[in-house]
Amino acid sequence: MSSPIAVGDARIHRIEEWSGLFMTPQTLFAGFDAADYARVKRQIPPDYLDLERDALRACLQSFVIELGGRRILIDTGAGNDKERPGIPLFGHLNTPFLQTLASAGFTRESIDVVICTHLHVDHVGWNTMLQDGAWVPTFPNAQYVFTDPDAQYWDPANRHRFPDKIGEGVNTGFFDDSVKPILERGMAQVVSGTTTLFEGLRMDPAPGHTPGSQTITIESRGQRAIFVGDIVHHPLQVFCPDWNSIFCEDPGQARVTRQNVLARVAHEEAIMIPAHFAGRHVARVSRTTDGYAPQGL
Ligand SMILES: [Zn+2]
Repeated sequence: MSSPIAVGDARIHRIEEWSGLFMTPQTLFAGFDAADYARVKRQIPPDYLDLERDALRACLQSFVIELGGRRILIDTGAGNDKERPGIPLFGHLNTPFLQTLASAGFTRESIDVVICTHLHVDHVGWNTMLQDGAWVPTFPNAQYVFTDPDAQYWDPANRHRFPDKIGEGVNTGFFDDSVKPILERGMAQVVSGTTTLFEGLRMDPAPGHTPGSQTITIESRGQRAIFVGDIVHHPLQVFCPDWNSIFCEDPGQARVTRQNVLARVAHEEAIMIPAHFAGRHVARVSRTTDGYAPQGL
């Protein structure tokens, strides 16, 4: 177990669900440019990018923040036992995620708040677990937090309003087994716009990857960490902010948001915590003459 990240008085623990090779740059990135790739790829360490196989390394991981006496879980991975016809890699998993969480010092019952950076199949899975054939909240004492734009967008009951979703196929099923059971029990706070959940934790809209994607900023004693979800999937996108993943629902907006978020992380000298970085899992971002570069990979 690696030691937690300190942000002022806050402590951030990483909880890994899965890690491995995940797609090639050419297949994950819409807007992939071979010349740009050749220019930057050797600046990315091999524990993020396997140049021999030309494959991206990625993690499914959650983070527990200890802040002001609360325990806040950010993103909940793919989960166990889920039916995932659109993405078999995440279907019928049987990982020891809850044991990993407990080994880090956090029982299911001890989690106070669960926040999803966005609603996608690989960020909501452990919201629920299978018990006697039913999906029940994994964290029985938690307040869950979702954004309203995503809760609207992914609800199959609203399909007539949002008929042409890019991620419809890979995301089949997650709303009904991992979001709806939370909403039905009244355990979710559904937020819109900038929201200060409590002192030291703020959520800001960062649409594009999904309509309700958000950043989560932790601040303590003048230090900051910014959880950026899938706005930055891989370090290559810090060098090449115009590269979207093929899972970005609104490509134009996703590029604008990525530029804005990288500018913020650099300006505020924050620790950037993306959802899927392998390697050292977090990075800082510096400005260069013509863009941005990741630091501390
Ligand atoms: Zn993701």
